Amino acid sequence: MYKIAVIPGDGIGKTVVSEAVRVLKSTDLKFEFRYMEVGYEVFKRVGTSIPEDVVSKLRDTQACLFGATTTPVGAPNYRSAIVTLRKALDLYANVRPVRSYPIRGHVKDVDLVIVRENTEGLYSGIEFEMEDSALAVRVITRRACKRIARFAFDLVMKRRRKLTIVTKANVMRKTCGLFREVSLLVAKDYPGVEVEELFVDAAAMSLVLKPQVFDVILTSNLFGDILSDEAAGLVGGLGLAPSANLGDGYGLFEPVHGSAPDIAGKGIANPIASILSAKMMLDFLGEDEWAERIENAVVSVLREGKYLTPDLGGSSTTREATEAIIGALWKS
Ligand code: NAD
Repeated sequence: MYKIAVIPGDGIGKTVVSEAVRVLKSTDLKFEFRYMEVGYEVFKRVGTSIPEDVVSKLRDTQACLFGATTTPVGAPNYRSAIVTLRKALDLYANVRPVRSYPIRGHVKDVDLVIVRENTEGLYSGIEFEMEDSALAVRVITRRACKRIARFAFDLVMKRRRKLTIVTKANVMRKTCGLFREVSLLVAKDYPGVEVEELFVDAAAMSLVLKPQVFDVILTSNLFGDILSDEAAGLVGGLGLAPSANLGDGYGLFEPVHGSAPDIAGKGIANPIASILSAKMMLDFLGEDEWAERIENAVVSVLREGKYLTPDLGGSSTTREATEAIIGALWKS
């Protein structure tokens, strides 16, 4: 029996996470789902986005399925729930696979993973005002660089062994300089890996022009956040993009997308990003066979093209898309 925390969050987070749970329940694996509330709706009720006991309750589970939370611009006392949880649980590796699926009009043969440092950088949350200026502190530590570089190199060893380090070390000489220096030092322990370096602006262009050349991209927090949305856009959009936040011994799995207020409550959010995040959770738990079955079911529904949500050009509801995936799960 796996003890799994479920955090639906806000907006479409609630919708898509319950679809992922339905898919997990339709396997023959045993789960105990423990629901917890974090996010903006909780903040409005109780004045904090993460109630006090949530982190310790999470630590009493094996993994967490997370939906999405709203982080409103201009709410002075509000801190992003997901950014806070990543730090609190020390989930230092954000892993965002980007893969071509059989859908019309999208780029073919992409199979890359963005590995993003998840606990510091420009998302350290250290910002302040001085007279007419506003400042953000970009924290980059040797320790965090080392562990994320190790993570990325270990991952690329299981793949095509090409790793791209993305920085802006020509301009941010100290912070990106340290990230680059440590990544290149770690690279020495992996002689079988082809290592290339790109500045983030060039990487953004290459992703559009020739995404197929990338295998694993290693980068810092903000760059990884932006590049992963861009890469997702090439292969079908945020509705298909899953992610894992991994620390030593714990994982939180969530779609790359946010709470999507423009479609919240309409029943048309694409559940696939959340379902593929649940698939990543099964990989993490060592349930490789069910993980593969879930991905195969998603691929077969996409290939058939009959039950697609509007973001993919279809007219199915969230529930219909999930039902089709559950149906395909048992056909395979
Ligand atoms: P978003 O990812 O919520 O939405 C961007 C666009 O993609 C919207 O047009 C939306 O309708 C579409 N989209 C996203 N997911 C979709 C899905 N599953 N199916 C179909 N269409 C989908 O980004 P945003 O609009 O910039 O942010 C909305 C809120 O979410 C903000 O408050 C932001 O801070 C928050 N956010 C949270 C997370 C998180 O919790 N991890 C991540 C990103 C953004």
